[in-house]
Amino acid sequence: MIDRYKSNDVIESLEDVAYKNGITILDVYDLDKSTSDCVIMSVKTVFMNYSYDKVSYAFRLAHEISHILFGNPESQNVYYFSECGKRGEEFEAHKNAIEMLMKIKRPTTVQTFMEAYSIPSWLSEYVEIDYRRSNEYSKTR
Ligand SMILES: [Zn+2]
Repeated sequence: MIDRYKSNDVIESLEDVAYKNGITILDVYDLDKSTSDCVIMSVKTVFMNYSYDKVSYAFRLAHEISHILFGNPESQNVYYFSECGKRGEEFEAHKNAIEMLMKIKRPTTVQTFMEAYSIPSWLSEYVEIDYRRSNEYSKTR
């Protein structure tokens, strides 16, 4: 299931964003599936647990990249992924990840987007907001 996301063009676009911003992505293959991905701000490195399967690789990668791109480097050096992080910088990284993925590939519906990236259901209202925004944007072009 993870391979499906790992091999698509969305991952490549995210890797491209990472590369252009000097971010290193390290896939770790021998971790327990409950071990969270993490990002170390000072060395701009994202450690991705390849076995983690509750949320798609693409969404988690976008989330971790968001910490480095939009986060405050002074506030914290290490972040661990949590699909239920509803506060502060975790919440911001979730919202920025949704926006980033929406820009890479506009979905046909909110539902397909939620399913394709196995995004935690509590975030659906934010997917809805970004989806509506991307619709309006495409109309004005
Ligand atoms: Zn995070």
